[in-house]
Amino acid sequence: MSALQVQAGELLASGKAEVVIGYGEGTRGRVRPVFVRTRADVSLLVFDGRCTANLTVYLAKPEVGRMGKAAIVATPGAVRSLIQLIAEHQVDPGEVVVLAADDDAVTLLTDPAALEAYAAAHPVTIPPEAKAVTESLARMSAQERRAFWDAELSRCFKCYACRSACALCYCTRCITDMNQPQWVCVAPHALGVMEWHLNRAMHMAGRCVQCGSCTSACPAGIPIGLLAMEASRSVEKEFGAQAGLRCDAPPALSSFAADDRESFIL
Ligand code: SF4
Ligand code: SF4
Repeated sequence: MSALQVQAGELLASGKAEVVIGYGEGTRGRVRPVFVRTRADVSLLVFDGRCTANLTVYLAKPEVGRMGKAAIVATPGAVRSLIQLIAEHQVDPGEVVVLAADDDAVTLLTDPAALEAYAAAHPVTIPPEAKAVTESLARMSAQERRAFWDAELSRCFKCYACRSACALCYCTRCITDMNQPQWVCVAPHALGVMEWHLNRAMHMAGRCVQCGSCTSACPAGIPIGLLAMEASRSVEKEFGAQAGLRCDAPPALSSFAADDRESFIL
């Protein structure tokens, strides 16, 4: 039995968790989310290099909430998103325990201080292919970047898998689904697609924890997470606010200090 299975079993047996949200074997060699509610079923849990999807996306689902106090298997990116969800008052830290998993170990995190210490010790790591694209984009002119995104987004057919995979996209009614008034063209043409992604990137500015789940979920292979990540990097540069590190962090774009620099609006 793996260390993860042992710890999950102990949490269920002691009543410290009523459901363990983790990864289990799926089809065609892939993993899928599993919701383990009895000690007998902890053998369903696996953790290896295939387990990259951010499972904290399930914490906001009412049907998962009804299962009771949750333990969640979390990658370092998922730990950051949980911290951000706590900071945004979407998750009560007393209602979730974390089995933080990386290549080497499983660490039980039961309070905000432990989450923050874990996040600080596990800085963001960007996959090599995403890093190469980011560096290439940084060298481009604004026109070249626009051409890059026009070409990438021409493959977007608005399936919204990127939204569904993102733990921080938790609105019960997304602006893109509204039709009275309709803010965003619903059609997957160039304008509708650009409006959707610019809206999403703006809403993620200062909130994206760079978990990469949205990019992994895109069936069209668009590196869509780079938009939100870049928007968040701009916020970090201008305001020194990095998402997913502090459970009591104020919202970066809706709080202010009397001595804030104003040069960015000139
Ligand atoms: S997952 Fe990909 S194809 Fe679907 S809406 Fe997002 S960017 Fe477009
Ligand atoms: S926008 Fe993408 S990379 Fe950022 S938190 Fe959401 S899923 Fe993760």
